Amino acid sequence: MNYTEDQYDVFEKRMHETYPAMFGKPYGGFAVGAGWWPIIEALCGQIQHHINWANETRERLLKDNPYKNRIPDAVPQVTVDQIKEKFGGLRFYYTGGDDMIDGMVRMAESWAARHCEECGRPGRSRGGGWIRTLCDEHEAERQEQMKKRFGNATDL
Ligand SMILES: [Zn+2]
Repeated sequence: MNYTEDQYDVFEKRMHETYPAMFGKPYGGFAVGAGWWPIIEALCGQIQHHINWANETRERLLKDNPYKNRIPDAVPQVTVDQIKEKFGGLRFYYTGGDDMIDGMVRMAESWAARHCEECGRPGRSRGGGWIRTLCDEHEAERQEQMKKRFGNATDL
């Protein structure tokens, strides 16, 4: 599912309804461009699936398995603390989870670092003032806007 900036309310509502346990406390909203929203959506889906699966499996083992010493710990529910852009990269701060979820978050952040924050197409880090991850088209747009704002003399 792809989004545009004007669909923020739709995206936010969908996330809060689908993952109420993850978004139960103030976290400051999805403070990144729409190109990264599908990455966040996929990440949250994988996180909640892993928590549910691990904890359901554990419950079943507690009931049926005589080797209770081999039953893994429960995975603490993930709650989102903050989602933002920093130095052109996605930052997903959270509480709870386990090593698997830590790996998922790192994967999502490294995926975002290679995809345009505006549209989600392949992109890369662009310097000059505020560092952003953008595709060629949106980088050209940004350069145009900077020219308008600061004049041609500024080679940002
Ligand atoms: Zn783009």
